[in-house]
Amino acid sequence: MTQELDWANLSFGYIPTDYNVRCYFKDGKWGEIEASQSESINIHIAATALHYGQEIFEGLKAFRGKDGKVRVFRLEENAKRIIESAKGIMMEPIPVELFCEMVKKVVKLNERFVPPYGSGASLYIRPLEIGTSAQVGVKPSEEYLFLILVTPVGPYFKGGFRPTNICIMREFDRVAPKGTGRWKVGGNYAASLEAGHKAHSMGYSAVLYLDPKEKKYIDECGPANFFAIKDGKYITPASESILPSITNMSLKQLARDMGIEVEERHIPIEELEFIQEAAACGTAAVASPIGEIHDIDTDKKYVVSKDGNPGPITTALYNKLRGIQLGEEEDIHGWNTVIE
Ligand SMILES: *Cc1c(COP(=O)(O)O)cnc(C)c1O
Repeated sequence: MTQELDWANLSFGYIPTDYNVRCYFKDGKWGEIEASQSESINIHIAATALHYGQEIFEGLKAFRGKDGKVRVFRLEENAKRIIESAKGIMMEPIPVELFCEMVKKVVKLNERFVPPYGSGASLYIRPLEIGTSAQVGVKPSEEYLFLILVTPVGPYFKGGFRPTNICIMREFDRVAPKGTGRWKVGGNYAASLEAGHKAHSMGYSAVLYLDPKEKKYIDECGPANFFAIKDGKYITPASESILPSITNMSLKQLARDMGIEVEERHIPIEELEFIQEAAACGTAAVASPIGEIHDIDTDKKYVVSKDGNPGPITTALYNKLRGIQLGEEEDIHGWNTVIE
């Protein structure tokens, strides 16, 4: 069946695979890992996830390398981050070892869905935790389900690695100043759907959110972090209301490795006038170059890419990270886990 999949043309959608893995937290402890062939779960109608949004998730990828081996990128970082998300909305944290074991197991069980080297496609891994206790009172659940599903996804850049335009809209915030923005919570995504839909209908690929308190500084780019290259430096926002992207963390390290200075600080909107390159970064694209940034409310246009091409530093960082994920470049920081 997998022979029939047109890997290079897969969308970022959902294609059934052979197994998902599940683990239940009950009576104060995590149970055994279960492999399931069912694409459904059976949960109580009064589960806290359904009523009060106790839901957190992660997103990471497995790649088939040049040497034929399957590599998962930085799974320990995702394991650590979902613990922070769990604590953030009072859910039961998944131990790092359990998380890693389940990721390895689900990839192994679905190895035939890891796309071939050279296709540009990958196996997307989606860990998910939900509160399952039946209660209508507003309090944290006592029982949880942690599961991981996987699905093959096509290359992000089907039309090539090209810049797209994004917009600033003050009409919407996706998170509150001291809210849940630093955690990977489903509710943040619900809060961003209307703005995203509006931006797409106006021809923009994403919304560049400003800090929700003062609306003076750059926060992040929809479901991706923002970075820019200014006078040879890598600059990226320091903010309490953004999700600490593991891709951004990796790109910062690669920039330092290349001798590029990294600044994590507030980036005032006005500074967009003086940047030479910019991109949105996250697991889906690694880095998606930005062409222009339109400030809808002031009608100001920041032209980042003067010649319509991705900038040289963004391109070098993108190629380096992709090379590490695909086993083409030496993994000097030990970011990959090879699935044996
Ligand atoms: C997941 C996510 C990112 C990207 O994080 P990566 O670890 O790089 O995939 C950025 N911003 C938000 C809001 C996210 O949910």
